[in-house]
Amino acid sequence: MATVQKPADVATYQMLIGGEWVDADGSGTFDSLDPYAGEPWARVPEGTEADVDRAVQAARAAFDSGPWPETTGRERSKLLRRLADLVGDNAEALGRIETRDNGKLLREMQGQCLALKDWYEFYAGAADKIQGEVISSDKPNFLVYTRKEPVGVVAAVLPWNSPLLLLAFKFAPAIAAGCTFVAKPSEQTPVSALAFGKLVEEAGFPPGVFNVVTGSSDLIGKSLVSHPGVDKIAFTGSTETGMAIVRSAADNLSRVSLELGGKSPNIVFADADLDAATNGVIAGIFAATGQTCIAGSRLLVEESVHDELVERVATRAGAIRLGDPSDPETEMGPVAFEEQLDKVLGLIQAGVDEGATVACGGGQANAGELFVEPTILTGVSNDMRIAREEVFGPVLSVLRFTSEAAAISIANDTRYGLAAGIWTNDVHRAHRVAHRIRAGTVWVNAYRMVSFSTPFGGYGQSGWGRENGLEAIDSYTETKSVWVELSGATRDPFTLG
Ligand code: NAD
Repeated sequence: MATVQKPADVATYQMLIGGEWVDADGSGTFDSLDPYAGEPWARVPEGTEADVDRAVQAARAAFDSGPWPETTGRERSKLLRRLADLVGDNAEALGRIETRDNGKLLREMQGQCLALKDWYEFYAGAADKIQGEVISSDKPNFLVYTRKEPVGVVAAVLPWNSPLLLLAFKFAPAIAAGCTFVAKPSEQTPVSALAFGKLVEEAGFPPGVFNVVTGSSDLIGKSLVSHPGVDKIAFTGSTETGMAIVRSAADNLSRVSLELGGKSPNIVFADADLDAATNGVIAGIFAATGQTCIAGSRLLVEESVHDELVERVATRAGAIRLGDPSDPETEMGPVAFEEQLDKVLGLIQAGVDEGATVACGGGQANAGELFVEPTILTGVSNDMRIAREEVFGPVLSVLRFTSEAAAISIANDTRYGLAAGIWTNDVHRAHRVAHRIRAGTVWVNAYRMVSFSTPFGGYGQSGWGRENGLEAIDSYTETKSVWVELSGATRDPFTLG
């Protein structure tokens, strides 16, 4: 990883391992770049395999002995509530860190950081309600019941686009369940998880329950996901990395949950409110500079309203204010780093080469080094690369359809299945289509709604399992069945009970 010259005001951070703030083994560091300023703004430890091992051992020790395994759900609930308050009090500062690291709008990142409080409060409410059941057993003279026990040491591997929110998706239910935790933030955005570690410490969690290691995917990502001391891997990131992680986890049969990429359809029927649909299409693809897994990157429009909708969306997209992500007037910031810029521009070019027409934007914007124009490509067919590959940038592909069946078929013709939007004023059609779309989330006359209370995850190659809601707790627990013989009698030892 390139180490950039350190300016005088660069902030320095340490990793949190076993309740101690430490440098990397070997004292290596790397700099985190502010994508808007184009400069390093923070310096963090370049962790090694030895650091990963220390962090996993610390999480293992905290899980196996000391105060943590003895905590009741009620005690974990209180800790989570304290953490929720601290996160709420520090939301503004945490949001600033996120924006410095990934260049997304300050108002979006501060909004996300304020929302973190809700995630921790929701799982604080759940922590003392995780319980098994008494089984109505078919065997006479047996009491049979189940227990929901924590799965163990959780390793969370995180992407750069919404680091603390995606950490909350994992850490809050894992703690409610009684797990211990090692977080590995993206090398593009390593700082916020370290700042969050200070709050976890202040909330009073025992040492080793939450650990953070920073560094590259090659040095520490791979060793973390193949570490035999890890019981469960909770990953958010690209589909290709998800596949690599599953392969690494296979050797230990660690449990894995995956939140991966998407190529989500935003489907506009002719009877839709076109003002609302235009707004939803813009929100779906240009919010967060399109750097969101749920981006509505394929706009499917019914033939009869195609031209009108494209004109409305292109007019609004052309007026999007690009600039400093910290300026409250800015609507779209830069993309997060140079490779991302090259990838987005390359995919726009691939669309044009395959016959798409540029209806808006189409290239680099002059608001700064890493800016891409809000781009709309029309005349896209679903077999083009631009319709099949995740861009993770502000690029909308427009496809036409002529019937409800065709819309469903195009929508489902993808390896992904994370989200979809449906715009219609026909209530029958709304539910009918929502049921037929193969995606983990479907919004009707809305887009980009996410909540702590609502399960979130993907079909197909968009992932395994669900985060958020009470359902998320299942992926941090094991179910144990306990059989208790009540009669004191013995039985034939050579038969199955
Ligand atoms: P990425 O897959 O490149 O990296 C994610 C994390 O995995 C990073 O921390 C990286 O260091 C680590 N990593 C990379 N290779 C690894 C390996 N072989 N073993 C272990 N760790 C490894 O993803 P990214 O570029 O940071 O994020 C963008 C991607 O994330 C997009 O595809 C996006 O759709 C997806 N995403 C999904 C969701 C969701 O909830 N479904 C949310 C946000 C982002």
